[in-house]
Amino acid sequence: MVGDGFRVHNFFPSGYNIPQDRMSPFFLMDYNSKIDFSPRENPRGVGVHPHRGFETVTIAFHGKVAHHDSAGNSGVISEGGVQWMTAGSGVLHKEYHEQEYSRNGGPFQMVQLWVNLPAKFKMTPPKYQGLNADQMGKWQSEDGNAKVDVIAGNFKGTAGAASTFSPIEMYVIRLKAGASLEFDLPADFNTGILTVEGSVSYHDEFNANTDEFALFLNDGETVHVTAVEDATLFLISGAPLNEPIAAHGPFLMNTYEEIHQAILDFGQGKFGTLED
Ligand code: MN
Repeated sequence: MVGDGFRVHNFFPSGYNIPQDRMSPFFLMDYNSKIDFSPRENPRGVGVHPHRGFETVTIAFHGKVAHHDSAGNSGVISEGGVQWMTAGSGVLHKEYHEQEYSRNGGPFQMVQLWVNLPAKFKMTPPKYQGLNADQMGKWQSEDGNAKVDVIAGNFKGTAGAASTFSPIEMYVIRLKAGASLEFDLPADFNTGILTVEGSVSYHDEFNANTDEFALFLNDGETVHVTAVEDATLFLISGAPLNEPIAAHGPFLMNTYEEIHQAILDFGQGKFGTLED
C-alpha cells in the first residue's frame, strides 16, 4: 500500500535485475490493478510529502483521485484523465481518493509513473497539468475498432495533450477483438505496454493478458499488436536521458550531493507549505 489509498505493484525499477535506467526517462511505474474500495467518509490516500527532480504522472482507468500541492495547484481526475505534476525544484503534495468516489466506493485502477527530468530541467519551477479524457488527442481507425487517446507525443499526426521536457510518447489504446495496430517508435526509445484490460498478442508471437507489462527490446522500430479479446492498453515510450541517476526516497537527482541538498532544503521548509 502507498498510504492507505493505493494498492500497487511495481513493474520497475524493481525486479529481474533490470538496471534502474532501463526504462529511462521513466524511472518508476506503480500499478494499482483493479480493486473495489469499500465506501468510506474519510478519503483514503497519501498525506503531504515532498518531491524534487522529476514528474509524477497519474493515469486513472477507474475511480477518482484528488491532488493538492504547495505550488497552489489542485485538481481531480477520473476515468481517462491524467495528472501530470512537474515537481522540478520541489513541491509538497498529497494524493487522495476524491470525496464523492470515496463515499460511494467502487472499482479503482490507476498507474503512477515517475518521469525523470533532464539535468538542465531538474530545478524548473513546479507545474501542474490536469487533463480530462476529453482533452486527449483523439485518433481512431476508419472502422472505429481501434482508438488511441494521445496523452503525450504524436500518433499518426494526432498530437498529445501534455507538454513534456524530453521526447515521450504516451497513449491509451482501445482495441476491439481482432483489431490490429502498428506503432512506429525509434529503436533507441525505451518502450513498454501495460495490458489494462483484455488480452493482446504482439507480432503474432507473444501474448499479454490483463495486468501484464510487456517490455520491448531496443532492436526495431515497429510494435505490432492484435487484440485477442477487447483490450485496453497503456503505452509508454521515451528517449533515454543517458544521465547519471541518484535516487533517494521522494527525490530523483543526478548526484548524491544534490540529494543531500534536497534533504536540507526540505528540512528548511523551502518546498513551501501544505496543510494535511
Ligand atoms: Mn507523490
